[in-house]
Amino acid sequence: VRFFFPDSQDQIDPFFDFQAEAHGLYRVRQRDDQYAHEALHKSPYDGLLLSKVIVDGPPHGGGGKYTLAQRQRLYRQGARAFFRLERPDGHPLEIMGDCGAFAYAKDSEPPLGVEEVMAFYDGVAVDYGVSVDHIVFGFATDDADLEATTLATYRRRQQITLELAAEFLARHRAEACSWVPVGVAQGWSAESYAQAVSTLQKMGYRMIGLGGLAALKTPEILAALSAAGRVRAPGVGFHLFGVTRTAMADAFSGFGVVSFDSTSPFRQAFKDADDNYYWPEGNLAALRVPQVDENPRLKGRILAGEVDQAEARRREQACLRDLRRYRGGRASLRRALSSLVAYEEIYEPRRSYREDYRRTLEERPWVRCPCAVCKTWGVEVAIFRGAQRNKRRGFHNLAIFADGLRNALAAGAVPAATSGDDRGLVGGARA
Ligand SMILES: [Zn+2]
Repeated sequence: VRFFFPDSQDQIDPFFDFQAEAHGLYRVRQRDDQYAHEALHKSPYDGLLLSKVIVDGPPHGGGGKYTLAQRQRLYRQGARAFFRLERPDGHPLEIMGDCGAFAYAKDSEPPLGVEEVMAFYDGVAVDYGVSVDHIVFGFATDDADLEATTLATYRRRQQITLELAAEFLARHRAEACSWVPVGVAQGWSAESYAQAVSTLQKMGYRMIGLGGLAALKTPEILAALSAAGRVRAPGVGFHLFGVTRTAMADAFSGFGVVSFDSTSPFRQAFKDADDNYYWPEGNLAALRVPQVDENPRLKGRILAGEVDQAEARRREQACLRDLRRYRGGRASLRRALSSLVAYEEIYEPRRSYREDYRRTLEERPWVRCPCAVCKTWGVEVAIFRGAQRNKRRGFHNLAIFADGLRNALAAGAVPAATSGDDRGLVGGARA
């Protein structure tokens, strides 16, 4: 089972100065900044998922994640060179392209045509190209539970997705594209996912992506997946779009899954309140030391005269100093913890993370973690503060997630039907 990580241009500056909180003077982002597969030395994923909307911007305007110069460089060099995917270990990472259907999910029809999406795949040189789809949001165990208009919308979206998949595959054949076509199955129930899968198989797809799973609960995902697995033809592999960690672990029990993508290990590093620092023996809470000028609540309290700015700064700096001393064995755990709590008291009135912090300090992941990010940047990775630290922790999370995935696969959590032969056939379709 291959893990694809959706690109959102989340690199780190390896020369960032944590003492001065500043970028290097001569930093050239494109040249110096590192992707997770570079910073970690050993790539945590097997490939990147590259969305057209991330690169070219949303269809209704508004900025994409890429500057014009980055876009031009990507199209000129191709994704392989742009992302520096050729690995020293001789195991190149792959690129899967998709359209980014979330960006136009509210439209009644996809604003992107098959032709322009295929031009994007050819332009950036993907290994896999996903057909244009329209997300169905919702799940029902019985169609009778749905309002007639809701059911009609679901059906229409699935039909649009299947029609676009047919056009996509026809063009792919006519133009003899070198990348693997991936047909998308959208559905709203176990039965409807199974029908979509059957239809795509009849068209000739050997690789099928199950869409619309991101918003579903784990039992719903499993229901859809097992129904899809029952109609799966030999040699057909499934890709799961945007699944979370928990859902994924269960999905490993089989069903023909050959790949999936997920941002959650990375995003949890700065989106989750306390489950933000992956750790094999149970996830930890990162140590919050917000910047005095950037924490809205603290700024508000300073402006209202409730907190003295100099005092806030003093407590903030005491946290950073004591955490670094604790790492070096020059301050006790109690000292580091009391500094964190003293600062927390003035910016976080809702709850205290004292006990979570105690556990993180006791575990000392910055000493024990073998990943290259923790080895290089140590305790800074554990501090919840600013993009440079938080993204590093996201990279660390990816490394821990990848290890857990490899262990699960090695332990035989995935039956033979989802690897071996199938992978060969999916790979063979590319040749
Ligand atoms: Zn680590």
